[in-house]
Amino acid sequence: MPILAHHHDTSIHRNNDNHKDCLDVIPKICDTPIKYDNPNYKSTWSHRVWVATGCTTILFSLTNSIIGSIGSHLWLEPILAGFVGYLFADLGSGVYHWAVDNYGDESTPLFGMQIDAFKRHHKWPVVITEHQFANHLHVIARAVTFAFLPINLIFHDYPIVMGFMASASGCIMFSMQFHCWAHVAKNKLPSIVVALQDARVLLSRSQHGTHHLPPYGKSYCIVSGVWNKFLDENKVFESLEMVVFFMFGVEPRSWSEIDSNWIQDKQISNKLGSRRLNHIIITKTAYINTPK
Ligand SMILES: [Zn+2]
Ligand SMILES: [Zn+2]
Repeated sequence: MPILAHHHDTSIHRNNDNHKDCLDVIPKICDTPIKYDNPNYKSTWSHRVWVATGCTTILFSLTNSIIGSIGSHLWLEPILAGFVGYLFADLGSGVYHWAVDNYGDESTPLFGMQIDAFKRHHKWPVVITEHQFANHLHVIARAVTFAFLPINLIFHDYPIVMGFMASASGCIMFSMQFHCWAHVAKNKLPSIVVALQDARVLLSRSQHGTHHLPPYGKSYCIVSGVWNKFLDENKVFESLEMVVFFMFGVEPRSWSEIDSNWIQDKQISNKLGSRRLNHIIITKTAYINTPK
């Protein structure tokens, strides 16, 4: 079966004569059929151990922040630091999401699996809701453990730093769960989650919906989405894309309209039965209709 040359190959984008050829072949990702109740979506004990390790890292920061606050009678500063950590996590999630959506491919060292996962998410957005909890979070839990635990061990005596770390690491680790909730119908979510989404504390469906609609280059932040408006209105990512292009000659995927790998596969989605079809309808239309 012919394989689509990856859209990261900029020679494709620069030559319009190649566009038809690219559209005539079946993208590689279509070689993998969607299987619900797929064992690949289930959590393993290894996944659960990594999520437990990530949670331990977060709790370590939180505990040290509280103990340090009691000891130093500092309360306002660690709480403010926690709020800054929450904002930082949303911004960081946007930068990371933008990077993996636009650059690299499955063979990219360290990030190849994440790039492929985000590609699949754009192709079949609803599949994100099929993953079990630890299956979905174990990769980011591992990253949180390696990135934050050493800093926690060094700065455990500083309650302000620990307040920031607890909030930032917690929001980063659970960002994928917040993202998942933004793809679930409200009547299937716990009421507390819906309330937090409505209050814009967590990523709302309407905010994330614009990310899955053309031109596929907006609303990258997936913790609260609080940065999305600022980043989109000021064309921050578009400016970064220009910098990357002029410095390295690499075009982001969001500039391309020819690669079906990242466009939602409605044909396959429509074969998934009524429950999944309901999700697809939500993805395709409810976001648009939800008041912004
Ligand atoms: Zn994306
Ligand atoms: Zn999404």
